[in-house]
Amino acid sequence: MDCKETQHCIHLFLKDELDRDTEQKFVEHVHSCSECMEELTIEYLLLEGISRLENADDIDVQSELEDKLNRTMNRKKVCGQLKAGLFLVAALIFCIFLLGGA
Ligand SMILES: [Zn+2]
Repeated sequence: MDCKETQHCIHLFLKDELDRDTEQKFVEHVHSCSECMEELTIEYLLLEGISRLENADDIDVQSELEDKLNRTMNRKKVCGQLKAGLFLVAALIFCIFLLGGA
């Protein structure tokens, strides 16, 4: 998959509309191409950031994107423990954010 193809797939990936095969190639490219990773990050922040601002329930959008990418790469390895760990990390970051912003 080249850059043009990858960037075309970004919004499909974010909406979970890519098939498994394409999704895999997409994530592989994004991990090896900083340009496409940047593009993906921007699109994700725009998409998720806006809805999060409305809900104000979670601010750690960047690491959620990383989580989404990692989930695609290691789909079979994901377990409840990992999710619980990520939740704790996110909660911790949120607390730091609250303290820092006070
Ligand atoms: Zn690229």
